[in-house]
Amino acid sequence: HAKYLGQGSPQLFDQRMQKNFRSRLQLETDLRRAIERDELLLNYQLIVSLLTGEIAGFEALVRWNHPKRGLVSPVQFIPLAEETGLIVPIGEWVLRTACKQMRQWQIEQLVNHNVTMSVNVAGRQFAQLKLVNMIQDILQETGLDAKLLRLEITEGVIMEHFESATTQLQQLRDLGIQLSIDDFGTGYSSLSRLQQFPIDILKIDRSFVSPLGSKAENREIVETIINLAVNLKMSVVAEGVETLEQILELKQLGCHYGQGYFFSRPLDSEGIKQLILNHQFKYL
Ligand code: C2E
Ligand code: MG
Ligand code: MG
Ligand code: MG
Repeated sequence: HAKYLGQGSPQLFDQRMQKNFRSRLQLETDLRRAIERDELLLNYQLIVSLLTGEIAGFEALVRWNHPKRGLVSPVQFIPLAEETGLIVPIGEWVLRTACKQMRQWQIEQLVNHNVTMSVNVAGRQFAQLKLVNMIQDILQETGLDAKLLRLEITEGVIMEHFESATTQLQQLRDLGIQLSIDDFGTGYSSLSRLQQFPIDILKIDRSFVSPLGSKAENREIVETIINLAVNLKMSVVAEGVETLEQILELKQLGCHYGQGYFFSRPLDSEGIKQLILNHQFKYL
């Protein structure tokens, strides 16, 4: 009994809180320096055409190589970066690095000139003045064609930042940049609001894709999302594709693109280069 009492005691709880608080503060301090210390890196994951089996694009996924903690997942530090505002410089670094990389692969003739680069953009970045100018500058500076850049935003961003995001999203689209809704189906999009947005691509969340090939009832949800996208003249990417059964079912349902461990895990730039050279451009 003593053990249970001890564990729940206010004093111990307080110590745990303080410890969490300290490590959070430490993490924040470390994150603040991560860019200048060159600790951030990007991994890239293939997005494959289910029709041709060729690479249609990549998604850039940020990693933090922390000197003591090792590789820290974005699931852990992106929320912290959003709360502290550090997402603004981090987001800019991600955009610049991804665009530069894409241009480099084009120059090395590793990719065709219609292959796209997708970059995740957090809600907080829309509160930043000059987001549109910043992106325009990056395109100019790297020489990447605007129509090859895709920005991924979640439904939450659209709903929560409706006012500030609408104008900027429209301006970005006017530049030729394409917009994707990430993790589609997990948020609370109202369809009427969705329709007001200039969206080009829906990405079906992994949680709907994973059960495909096994549980029949999930087929209907995926089918509904695909039909919705097609009716709204958007293209559809299935996230988290891990098996051939899932791919066959997705193809049958009319899904255009797939992304997931079946094709490849996210890899660093060198890993992508080797992958492309070994596969000779065919992934299905
Ligand atoms: P997301 O944008 O939905 O990215 C897809 C996530 O699913 C990635 O996790 C990827 O590694 C993982 N994934 C891909 N294929 C499979 C699969 O077949 N099976 C399974 N189980 N997982 C798969 P990751 O890299 O840990 O990123 C997690 C989230 O962090 C991303 O979800 C995105 O929301 C956020 N994130 C990553 N990079 C950035 C960034 O540069 N900026 C912002 N704002 N958010 C980012
Ligand atoms: Mg994404
Ligand atoms: Mg996603
Ligand atoms: Mg997801």
